[in-house]
Amino acid sequence: MSFSSLGLSAELLHAVADQGYTEPTPVQSRAIPVVLAGRDLQAAAQTGTGKTAGFTLPLLQHLQKNPLEPGRRKPVRALVLTPTRELAAQVAESVQTYGKYLKFNTAVIFGGVNINPQIDKLRRGVDIVVATPGRLLDHVQQKTLDLSRIEILVLDEADRMLDMGFIRDIRKILALLPQRRQNLLFSATFSEDIRKLAAGLLKNPETIDVAPRNSTVELISQRVFQVDKGHKRELLAHLIGSGNWRQVLVFTRTKHGANRLSEQLQQDGIQSTAIHGNKTQGARTRALADFKNNRVRVLVATDIAARGLDIDQLPHVVNYELPNVPEDYVHRIGRTGRAGSTGEAVSLVCGEERGLLRDIERLLRMEIPRAAADGFKPNPNAHLKHDNKPARGDRPTRHTHSHAHKPGSGWHGRPGSGSRGPRIAAGRSSSR
Ligand code: AMP
Repeated sequence: MSFSSLGLSAELLHAVADQGYTEPTPVQSRAIPVVLAGRDLQAAAQTGTGKTAGFTLPLLQHLQKNPLEPGRRKPVRALVLTPTRELAAQVAESVQTYGKYLKFNTAVIFGGVNINPQIDKLRRGVDIVVATPGRLLDHVQQKTLDLSRIEILVLDEADRMLDMGFIRDIRKILALLPQRRQNLLFSATFSEDIRKLAAGLLKNPETIDVAPRNSTVELISQRVFQVDKGHKRELLAHLIGSGNWRQVLVFTRTKHGANRLSEQLQQDGIQSTAIHGNKTQGARTRALADFKNNRVRVLVATDIAARGLDIDQLPHVVNYELPNVPEDYVHRIGRTGRAGSTGEAVSLVCGEERGLLRDIERLLRMEIPRAAADGFKPNPNAHLKHDNKPARGDRPTRHTHSHAHKPGSGWHGRPGSGSRGPRIAAGRSSSR
């Protein structure tokens, strides 16, 4: 699938090419034709799926292909509502980026800043407004903004907008819009409230779902290994080798950490590469291709770098470090285990990360099973020497450890055996 097969204009394709995107993400390939056809859309898609381009590109194309008669004052034709200022700024930036070869004006409108520059901007005439609900209504009240000519409305991260208590503002805004318009609703989750909002808003919508839904998250087999910080790498190498994991996406918190871990795994004989924001687009594309083609076994990534990458349905995702934001945990593990397929998400959690784990479990409303690797030997040198010869992982079965457990290592269990990799003891481990 290529961007050009989606029916986008030359100007938009040019802008997309400038970004270095080679192919559309799943949400883009599904959403763009629907929006271009003028249909309403209900999309389950989280941040990181490429959803912003998924609605921005066809929105721009709609404006481009349906020019208005030149008039005295140009009306605002497209409105994107977002829950936060940051997201509003980000979306507006995307509009600029993808619309750079078109002549549309965009205003970004949010509270907490002086309203006057926004008023000036609106007065000069804008085609697209990206806004948070509260400040948008301030403008309407001050009659500095007229929403009666909106052709396309986008509600981005609708679930967060409801969580933040914007439902009344949203309803007020909807009442100001013309009846005839196109509506796009993006939400990571679909609670009863979102469904209600969608039912009242969308007309005969096309529904697409590229995000891990709540139920999918439950389907993913999740485990927490409690481990000393200094033993994480050995445990990871051990899990990869003994489980014969072939395609593993590993998340670290920092770019530096991603590089270091990738190099260490490489030294351990595990083909690995890192992907993060400091790498050139070329290097990132290469790393991703190597990973997809199984030339590289482990891809170590930061959250930011992993966003928008067309990699999902992986068998194994590892949180080498827990993310600071609990929602990122859901994004990360959503890379594995789609409905029906098996996926496994493993988190290596050290003492200082316990608070983060608690926050994640609160968000998930479940306790993630604790696991212990049976037969893991914590002595790094002995372990690496024995366990991580390059050929090791090529043996799918019958891997026998001769390690003895070292008392006081923080790990329990007898020497490992097992044709299925480390034996997992579910339930609370007493290993820490
Ligand atoms: P979003 O989910 O819209 O927040 O997008 C996440 C990230 O993916 C952004 O940094 C985009 O620049 C990037 N992105 C969007 N579309 C693509 C694509 N087709 N290929 C690669 N990266 C993309």
